[in-house]
Amino acid sequence: MKSYWQNFVDGAWVDGGGGRIDVFNPGSGEKLAEHALADAADVDRAVKAAQRVHFSGALSNLRPVERGRMVQAMGRYLLENIDEIAPVLTQEQGKPLWEARIEIEGAARYFEYYGNQAETVEGRSIPLGQGYFDFTAHEPYGVSAQIIPWNYPVEMTARSLSAALATGNTCVIKTPELTPLSNAWLAKAAQAAGFPDGAVNILCGLGSVAGAALSSHPMVNQIVFTGSVPTGIAIATAAAQNVVPCILELGGKSAAIVHNDADLGAFENDVRWGIYFNAGQVCSAMSRVIVHEDIHDDLVDRMTCVAKSLTVLPGMEQPEFGATMGAMVSQAQRDRAVGMVADAVTQGARLATGGHALNIPGAFMEPTVLCDVTPDMAIANEEVFGPVVSVMKFQSDEQALSIANGTPYGLVGGVFTQDLNRATQAAQKMRAGQVFVNEWFAGGVETPFGGYGKSGYGREKGREALWNYVQTKNIAIKLGS
Ligand code: NAP
Ligand code: MG
Repeated sequence: MKSYWQNFVDGAWVDGGGGRIDVFNPGSGEKLAEHALADAADVDRAVKAAQRVHFSGALSNLRPVERGRMVQAMGRYLLENIDEIAPVLTQEQGKPLWEARIEIEGAARYFEYYGNQAETVEGRSIPLGQGYFDFTAHEPYGVSAQIIPWNYPVEMTARSLSAALATGNTCVIKTPELTPLSNAWLAKAAQAAGFPDGAVNILCGLGSVAGAALSSHPMVNQIVFTGSVPTGIAIATAAAQNVVPCILELGGKSAAIVHNDADLGAFENDVRWGIYFNAGQVCSAMSRVIVHEDIHDDLVDRMTCVAKSLTVLPGMEQPEFGATMGAMVSQAQRDRAVGMVADAVTQGARLATGGHALNIPGAFMEPTVLCDVTPDMAIANEEVFGPVVSVMKFQSDEQALSIANGTPYGLVGGVFTQDLNRATQAAQKMRAGQVFVNEWFAGGVETPFGGYGKSGYGREKGREALWNYVQTKNIAIKLGS
């Protein structure tokens, strides 16, 4: 492991005006490396470089297929270097090595998909009667500022960067202070693909310093943020001051409704992935299970077995895909999750399994199932962002939906039943941007994703995401006689 990592500004690897920050390995608790820490002046240089490239037309004037090929080349670069990137991602983030590989493959998939979409962003002509010709064109906003969370640092950067570049924007990316290292390969990928200096800038900095400077910079034309609600509100406020649009993806408290005719054997797989993948640090995690009272005890037993079947150990000791889970991103995040579970128990919830920190160095937590949770408890409403699922009971369909819709969030939801009418009606009534029927996480890069309510606005993934990165221009021509 290289001991010191730099920021990437205007095509050069540079130190940070804020000095350096220590990066820790949550799988051991030990210091891993140091990273340059950007200050507001670094952010300013990066934004100016990005604006220069935008105004030059170096990206926006390209024929879209050419830009699309460059975007796709970035994805191939990540796959070619996956053996180097994955161990760095695992060591800074805590996830199993096999999960790190899945994340990098997922990141590459974004570049494949949006590279392919570049030449599909077409306008239309609007009839105005004889004597006029009118058409629309979609133009990039310009400088796209992207503030990245630590749960999927490579994949979340890929999600916004690929769509922004495909549509001809230039980018300034603020990586999370906890997990900045693996983003270096996105800068290398942009260079390898032939993007000009300044088209892609990647800086690590503190949210309160570099993040705030970036989101309030007057030359930024569009902002993408994934993270917590309070920070999302701060960013939307900064965006409003400059009158620029933003996309907010702010997590959730997403619920699966499990009816008494559901295939419970199949649902075990949804529990395994829905709440224990990435140690539950997933914005669309299945953090609530609302189960029909007839099958409650059976389901809790099955969920407990799933939780207990997982071996928790340092990510670097988990090269092979399997029933394993890694560390959480930091001891602070782990302690917060353990504290939320302890509070829930004080309020009357019962631990079916787990709930505690592991007594080994690093940020490990047991896979946890909490039952006897009621909708009024904090644990039923607040995002834990850890391997903790809360189980609640229902009697009627209406009650299940009212519990599911009972939080301020609305990112995703799920319904598990063999009854098509019941599934369809629940899907229609769920206040969530994405509903899964009989498989949590069904879908992919092709399917639009984003929140209702406090889960945010704007859509990532799918063709819908493209419209966040372009503005429509109407051109009306008065023809001579
Ligand atoms: P956060 O504070 O919202 O941070 C997310 C990103 O925003 C980081 O890059 C952060 O930088 C940056 N940031 C922080 N303050 C900023 C500001 N004033 N202006 C601009 N950028 C700023 O989230 P967190 O502290 O990492 O995690 C707290 C909770 O947020 C978690 O427990 C979880 O519930 C939720 N969360 C949700 C998601 C999701 O995918 N929806 C992802 C991450 C976290 P620094 O890293 O430098 O602070
Ligand atoms: Mg923070």
